[in-house]
Amino acid sequence: MKKIIAANWKMNGSVASAKDWAKGVTSSLAKIKPDVEMVVCPPFPLISILGDELSGCPIKLGGQDCHSEKNGAYTGETAAPLLKDLGCGYVIVGHSERRHLFNESDDVVKSKALCAMDSGLIPIICIGETQKQREDGKTIEVINRQIERSVPKEAASGNFVLAYEPVWAIGSGKIPTLSEIKEVHKAIINKVSDFIAIDVAQIRVLYGGSVKPDNSGEIMAISEVCGVLVGGASLKADDFVEIAMSAYSN
Ligand code: PEP
Repeated sequence: MKKIIAANWKMNGSVASAKDWAKGVTSSLAKIKPDVEMVVCPPFPLISILGDELSGCPIKLGGQDCHSEKNGAYTGETAAPLLKDLGCGYVIVGHSERRHLFNESDDVVKSKALCAMDSGLIPIICIGETQKQREDGKTIEVINRQIERSVPKEAASGNFVLAYEPVWAIGSGKIPTLSEIKEVHKAIINKVSDFIAIDVAQIRVLYGGSVKPDNSGEIMAISEVCGVLVGGASLKADDFVEIAMSAYSN
């Protein structure tokens, strides 16, 4: 299965920095194995700019969120069909910042994922426990509940990706141990295959949370980890390239 290296720029970047990033990454593409799929999810206004800068190269575009309706009176929102129209292949849904800062429920995440799939996009559905939930030994329970409530049954077609992002690891510099990552990824794969009756070989689960060039190789060497979702470190072209290069280094 291809490894996926996805960049989540969050609310960062400018026209100039996006152009520099594209130049930096494209000039190093030869160093990256062809079975690595690179995806960049910039702020919405930069999608077209990156689309132009990356035209003809295999890096895919993605949105950071979408609405659950395909169009309508939803000021400030972005429609999945528009993302598709702009050349996106992916969209992140249910990122913990959306869940916690914008009160997105599992139900909302599910309807966004469904709309994304229906619009021809691959949703990257984010799940993960808080620090308190981990300390209370509730990680697997929380993950199972999020899968039941946020993953649409229609995902049985396999056209989705999950991202395990412990909330406490995002932007903190802290990551779970490799055996903890393996344990949770295994649990996610088992749960998803039971829940939507899909073959385990079709289930792709990324790890996200403080991924950097110096830990990405060992994280992706875990057989249940199909790639990484990278926030902070993805803003620097060199770091993003190094992470992509580490996909098959172990
Ligand atoms: C993220 O925002 O999805 C993320 C994983 O952030 P960071 O890599 O900065 O922890």
